Amino acid sequence: MISGLETLSHFDPTFFFVDRGDAFRILSLYMARIYDTTKSTLALRQRKRRLLSQLKICPDSLRASLVERFSRCGKSNCHCHHGGDKHGPFYYLTQCLAVGKVNKFLLKADAQQQAARTAIGHFRRLQEQLEELSQINAELLRRQEPLGGD
Ligand SMILES: [Zn+2]
Repeated sequence: MISGLETLSHFDPTFFFVDRGDAFRILSLYMARIYDTTKSTLALRQRKRRLLSQLKICPDSLRASLVERFSRCGKSNCHCHHGGDKHGPFYYLTQCLAVGKVNKFLLKADAQQQAARTAIGHFRRLQEQLEELSQINAELLRRQEPLGGD
């Protein structure tokens, strides 16, 4: 598929990264999950109410990906330059801010990595709930139904 693909494990399926040295390139952006909006209008409104009752913004929310990376060090006599295992894993928090603009830094401590995983999970859950709400509202409009009301 893509040559030069090194790494990676993804904790956030929103983004796919190719790691080429220092450059993390984003290959593909957000893809929405498609929710079932074939239900009756009544059922859609019930689902909407339920979603709204569940919506909660967790203060520790983070839109980012955690990228696992193995790399070579700077010592040319090291085994990593002579067919041996690369060093790692290292975990980088990566955050796409704009096209071609990625905020990236190393998470050194296990506790940092775990906090990032949890916070990314919180954000994704909220994002999924908002996406479902949005798809329901689009379907209501398509049916020429009012967005509010029962
Ligand atoms: Zn090395």
